[in-house]
Amino acid sequence: DHKPAPKELDASKLTYTFTKSPREVPPPGVDSVDGSTICTDHMISVPWSQKNGWSTPELKPYGPISLMPTASVLHYATECFEGLKAYRGFDGKLRIFRPDCNSARMLQSSVRISLPSFPPAELQKLILALIAVDGPKWLPRERPGTFMYLRPTMIGTQSQLGVTAPMEALLYIILSFMPVLDSPAGGMKLHTSPDDMVRAWVGGFGYAKVGANYGPSLLATHEAKSRGYQQVIWLYGKEGYCTEAGASNFFVVMKTKEGKTQIVTAPLDDRLILDGVTRRSTLQLVRERCRDEVEVVERSYTIDEVMEADSEGRLVEAFAAGTAFFICPVSLIHHRGRDVAIPMGKAGAGGHYTQLIKGWLRDIMYGRVEHPWGVVV
Ligand code: PMP
Repeated sequence: DHKPAPKELDASKLTYTFTKSPREVPPPGVDSVDGSTICTDHMISVPWSQKNGWSTPELKPYGPISLMPTASVLHYATECFEGLKAYRGFDGKLRIFRPDCNSARMLQSSVRISLPSFPPAELQKLILALIAVDGPKWLPRERPGTFMYLRPTMIGTQSQLGVTAPMEALLYIILSFMPVLDSPAGGMKLHTSPDDMVRAWVGGFGYAKVGANYGPSLLATHEAKSRGYQQVIWLYGKEGYCTEAGASNFFVVMKTKEGKTQIVTAPLDDRLILDGVTRRSTLQLVRERCRDEVEVVERSYTIDEVMEADSEGRLVEAFAAGTAFFICPVSLIHHRGRDVAIPMGKAGAGGHYTQLIKGWLRDIMYGRVEHPWGVVV
């Protein structure tokens, strides 16, 4: 009874089935049709089963997937995903930003939601393979400075209503358009989360990029939007710790009472927040490039501290940081009936550090500077 060992995910086995009905690339600025996100001609798909392990990865025409109504993901949210962008550089090259970080994070998320593990380097190779096929057409050289959005996804597909870890799963990668979200006129306006809603809790799974973190957040976000704010600052605990802003990390630049400038963001150690690639990159660049002027602080801080800094004239700037929103200046925070206006810099496009960090990252993403984080496809 010698059974073959389940197969490991192996990107080198990728097979290619090209579409026979290629579609047109939409004009710049169009990212959806009738409320549906526009995706490219192809997707990558890899089924997994506990018995056989990972099947041969397949690049094939983009299209619907078929699931039984009893599929695990549809009942128990056995799902995780990633989000990263591909950039058409000003030097004509296609790049992805730190795909190793997203691949490693996908593994953390999949393990948390009882989906299969895999070598992250193999996922990264599959991501690059999809861009290599669809990038040249969908992110044309004639449109430097544009990007597309990659969404690696994993779902539990086993058709079994028992509440158990799925024995079958599907990994797929799609490449889509997404609107530019980082520059709303006048900056982003944030509303603190309602007292009776928390996004994540100690011992929970806030650090994992699982679908189960997002659906339940929509209600508060919808409410904030209907009041004229774009995103929710998720507070935690009776102290009101600031954790994240919508689906991005949140940074505040404040002066201490002693007059020292600090760039402050929530810590990773209590596992409430996502370990954002943009967050991590921001912290590293500021530590490398301006450690003499500004102190980088990862610590728990409360909304009351931010309000106090505002009252005392010590609130310098604030921004959201994430793949979708990039580095997005925050101009207003609403908390319990009080609106706090945040300085937006002389040109009104964000404060000094917000703009500096945005410029540094943009230069890497669009190949204005050579940097190991900008991985050329
Ligand atoms: N927090 C949450 C909850 C998110 O969904 C995201 C987007 N992935 C981020 C933060 C920012 O992470 P990243 O910079 O890796 O996009």
